[in-house]
Amino acid sequence: MTDKVSAADRSRMMAAVRGKNTKPELAVRAALFSAGYRYRLHRRDLPGSPDIVLPRYRIAVFVHGCFWHGHDCVRGRQPASNVEFWNAKLDRNFVRDLSNRAALEAAGWAVATIWQCSAAQEIERLLRELADRSHVRCDLAMSELAR
Ligand SMILES: [Zn+2]
Repeated sequence: MTDKVSAADRSRMMAAVRGKNTKPELAVRAALFSAGYRYRLHRRDLPGSPDIVLPRYRIAVFVHGCFWHGHDCVRGRQPASNVEFWNAKLDRNFVRDLSNRAALEAAGWAVATIWQCSAAQEIERLLRELADRSHVRCDLAMSELAR
């Protein structure tokens, strides 16, 4: 069975799926911005150039397309054609994601992954995490003042 999508179409799709400033990524940025958090985009000096970085909280955020990053969901299913090609490619992405995460964590970053299929919930979770961390910072500041 051959692939119904031509090579040219496939590569256009790949470019679209892998591109920066994807819809879920814009949603994350909008949520962070309206909650008043400062962030940097696509820091190339960090492993895997995370899509969004909150330097103050030392959190790196990856916004992942389910297909490309092998999410365990309906969208993450591997294509039925060219199985070997896709398996190899997607396995490489998976391994690369793991090693980027490990390198970031080793450098003291917390890593958050926002999956395309569940972006809204993941964004909420990220905002809660940030709120927790700002309380910690706030408590520290208060204890400094109390001295
Ligand atoms: Zn997914």
